[in-house]
Amino acid sequence: MSDTKTARSTTFSRRALLSACGAAPALLAIGAFAAPPKVSQASVAFLDGPRGDKTCGNCRLFQAPSSCLDVQGPISEHCSCRIWLPPLA
Ligand code: SF4
Repeated sequence: MSDTKTARSTTFSRRALLSACGAAPALLAIGAFAAPPKVSQASVAFLDGPRGDKTCGNCRLFQAPSSCLDVQGPISEHCSCRIWLPPLA
């Protein structure tokens, strides 16, 4: 009896895995794994200058040379915004 349960469990697991693998291309096609949209500069109180020692250039989200992972538009390393994040240690 327990052998039957194990066999069914293994079959189900294999089926679930194959199903998940088959769904991956479809999820990619609809953009399920796409990055979330960026927010506007106005919505994060973007400043054309630093906030104390916080600048885009030392923010975790800055993407050199001139963009941000979360905020739209060209971003200078000398600017700052309300969602600044410290660099990872
Ligand atoms: S301070 Fe704001 S705009 Fe600048 S890189 Fe960080 S999150 Fe982006």
